[in-house]
Formats: sequence, C-alpha cells, structure tokens
Amino acid sequence: MVKYVFVTGGVLSSVGKGIVTSSIGKMLQARGFKVTAIKIDPYVNVDAGTMNPYMHGEVYVTEDGGETDLDLGWYERFLDLNLKKENNITTGQVYRAVIEKERRGDFLGRCVQIVPHITNEIKSRIRSVAADSKVDVVLTEVGGTVGDIEGLPFLEAIRQMRLEEGYENTLYVHVALVPILDVTKEMKTKPLQHSVNELRRIGIQPDIIVARCPQMIDAEALRKIALFGTIPENAVFCSYNVESIYQVPLILDEQGMGDFICKRLGLPERKSNYDEWKRFVEALLNPEHEVRIALVGKYAGLVDSYVSMNEALRHAGAACKTKVRIHHIEAETFEKSPSKVEMLKEFDGIFVPYGFGPRGAEGKIAAIKFARENNIPFLGICFGFQLATVEFARNVCGLKDANSTEIDPNSPHPVIDLMPEQRGIELKGATMRLGAHKIIIKPNTLAHKLYQSEEIFERHRHRFEVNIDYVEKLEKEGLVFSGRSPDGRRMEILELPNHYFFFASQFHGEFKSRPGKPDPEYHGFVKACLDRKLRKAKPEF
Ligand code: GLN
Repeated sequence: MVKYVFVTGGVLSSVGKGIVTSSIGKMLQARGFKVTAIKIDPYVNVDAGTMNPYMHGEVYVTEDGGETDLDLGWYERFLDLNLKKENNITTGQVYRAVIEKERRGDFLGRCVQIVPHITNEIKSRIRSVAADSKVDVVLTEVGGTVGDIEGLPFLEAIRQMRLEEGYENTLYVHVALVPILDVTKEMKTKPLQHSVNELRRIGIQPDIIVARCPQMIDAEALRKIALFGTIPENAVFCSYNVESIYQVPLILDEQGMGDFICKRLGLPERKSNYDEWKRFVEALLNPEHEVRIALVGKYAGLVDSYVSMNEALRHAGAACKTKVRIHHIEAETFEKSPSKVEMLKEFDGIFVPYGFGPRGAEGKIAAIKFARENNIPFLGICFGFQLATVEFARNVCGLKDANSTEIDPNSPHPVIDLMPEQRGIELKGATMRLGAHKIIIKPNTLAHKLYQSEEIFERHRHRFEVNIDYVEKLEKEGLVFSGRSPDGRRMEILELPNHYFFFASQFHGEFKSRPGKPDPEYHGFVKACLDRKLRKAKPEF
C-alpha cells in the first residue's frame, strides 16, 4: 500500500516548503524507503515554460523535457531522482484535461463541476504518479499558501484522499513561518495559528507542523503551536536557519521527525543512514580554498533565477574542497560603461548562464571576450555557449557584426540561428528543443577528459543553435566543437585548446548535478578556477 504525505504552507510563500518536502523524502530514503515527489502549482499556466524567471525563478527541465517548477530541482538534487513531467501538476493541465473530456462527450448529460470532476482529475494524476513510480511513499507539495483561491480545488482533493486512502496511509504536514520580532525578540506563533485555522476550515487537520523560524523555537512557542494546532508537542518541528540548505533533513531528523513519520504511517522501524549525505555536507561546510566567480547575467536580481546553476557550482566546489563565491553581475553594466569589464580581472572565473532576448547580450559578449583574451577560466551555458560562438566569430574570425538572429535578425553573419525544425512554430508553450538528447564527444578533447565517455545525455531548452554553415570557418580559426549531436549537425560543446579553460555547452549540465556527484562541466570549471588561483600552469583533470 503506497503512503501519501501532503505538504501545505502557511503565512507566506517561499517559506521553504520545497526544502521541507525534499527533506522528508531524504529522511525516508535514509531509512531505505523508496519515494517520489510531486509539486502542485495552482497557477493557470499549463507549465512553467512560459514564465519569466525574474518573477518566478528558473524553469527546471526534466529528463523527459518537462518545463517545470524549480522545486522539482530540489527534489531531484536531494533525492537523486529523475522525475517526469507528470510530477508537476498545474491548474492549467487539470482544467485542460477535464475540458477535453467534456468536449469528447465523456460527461454527456452531466454538469461538469469543480467537485467532483476537477478534484477527481487531480486525485487521478497524483495516483497515476504513485502507480508509475512504484514507490513506498509519494510526497505531494501544494504550492502557494493556504487560503489562496487557486489552491482550493487541490486542498479539497487531498482532503478527499484521506477518506479514500485511509488515515494510516496519509499524512498532512503544514509548514508555516514563525517570525521573531525585532524589538522584543519574541517568537510569534499567531500567523501560524491562523494558517492552521484556515486549513481546518477546508477540512484538513495537520498531523505535523513545521515552524519555519530563524532560530530553534523555544518551549513556549512549541507549546502554543501544539495547543492551538491540536497536535502533540512531539509532532511540532522547527526548520531554523542553517548554513546550508542540505543540513535541513539532518536537523529535522535530529528532532525526531523521520521516526515520527514512519511510525505514524505504519512503516517498519529502521535506522537511518546519512553517511554519504553527511560526507557531502562536511565537505561543503569545511572548504580549504575559495574561488570567486562572476556570474554575468540578466536575471541577477533574483537568486532563484539561477538556482540550479548556483547549486551545481556549489556541488562542484564541495568536490574540490572549495567555497565558491558567486557574484551576480548585471550584464548591462558592461554596455553602459565598457571600461567596467576590467573589474572581471578580480575574479577566478567568468560564468555566462542561460538567457533569452537581446537585453544584456552585448554585455555578456564583452565579458566572454575578456575571459578569452585574459586566459580567465570561462564556462558558458546555452545562451552563454551561443554568445561565445558570436564573440569568437566577430573577434577572431573577423566576421563583422556576427550575431544570433535572436538578437539581430538582419545580421550579415548569423552564426547562431533558429533550428530548422523551429521555423514556422508559432505556439510558444513547450515547443523549444527540450529534455535529454544524446551527444557524441570527440576523442582527445577537454570534453572527453571531463566526461570520460564518448557518449553522454544532457538536458536542453533552446530554439537557436550554431549555424552549420559557419562551423568550418570557426574551427579553422581554432574553436573546437568537441560535442555534437549523433548526426554531427548540431553543435553541443565548444572549447578553446589554447586557453587555460574555455568551455561552453548548448545543454544545461546543472540539471543533472547532485550533491556528491557534481556535473562534469561545472566540476571542470571550478577545478580550473582553483588551479589557476593556485598558479598551476595548466588545470589538472
Ligand atoms: N535564447 C536561446 C535559445 O533559445 C538560449 C536559450 C537558453 O539559454 N536556454 O536558443
């Protein structure tokens, strides 16, 4: 019998539900149970693909090409899973499916309603993930905050699941903020109490409450939360501030949360094993070195825009016993005042991330040029790969005004152009080249050294690519395309053999990076930054 854990949030969003959900998964995995995780996003978009990362955080791409909420990234990193599109359920998907059924005539004669038709669709989606993944426990996180209008059908669906699956097979975890007042330093539980009331009004009584508080909650706050939440004190846990997010499962488990959950769900009692996880956390928290990396992007204002990249850099850092300090720099800085690019000298590495559209593109190109000319380790991802090609075409091959047609549709040298199969596509949702595709690695290249393989699978999300008509010219001048699609026509990796470390990929290695298993391109980059800082003549791989 599969068990269901539902996680809701109160008081405000971004309270750390995703991390708590991932941590519950980790606690269960540490005891040998198989888990999967679902994120429910109550917005009406069918998927996250059409949303601006600046507003909503990055779009996380799954192996099967789903454009999903960034919480799936946390689940995958914490639980070392490859999730599917279906693990992210949105209002858009649910309504689309129900309306399609209505048009087909599946409900002939009936009035189609939120209860039961929408709620049935939600439940059947959760159950179908459970059936597909063959796990012991399915974690389902309901995005947003209890009380949001959009969330109601989802809460109603999970309420019904208790009736249908049984008390012993379902568990409600409510995560809510407990702020500390500046002046009196008091921990305030009232907002949390209100959010529990809101949940009850819908018919859900939480089994566990996780207080998100800057510090470990005191006895008084704990007592109040238990009393007003109508749960025993040993069902209240606290997710307090820690140095690294990866410590959260450990601090919650120390408070007894793992054992409590297993007991409550009637899972066999087992000792937890965190050996590997702890090794990674130790390495992360006790670095011997430090590197400073300039991330030249355009969504620098919101850290969540680059969350997988930041994490991939951290995983790589832990593997090199190195603290990676990431400095977000707005690419437009170098457009407004070109001489400012000199500030990049102070960094051990330059990183140009994914991106869309012309804003900041010239600034990124200036940063790439600086990295190339000054032998500073460089890593470019997706748009960063495309702009590195543009920079090389302009400044080494002498192709004046070379560009991507995404930026300048009339460029005389469109070295980056729309992929042929993208021409004529007008619908914007889920129409990019998405998900994992095979890449063939050229022997005796840096790529080969890093990946130790002649064939890799990496995740993509793009519409543009290197224009095959320019490949010969670019390679003649010294750029090496060391990774290509199996038919050889799609450029996937570029590198400069005469540079200390100059590497870029059309794909996104960050989506496959895991704690303790850093992604090869990020690992190579951080290692190169460190080696150069330690004044090694060549990076050692
Ligand atoms: N805008 C570019 C494209 O669509 C790059 C996309 C990206 O960086 N993910 O091809």
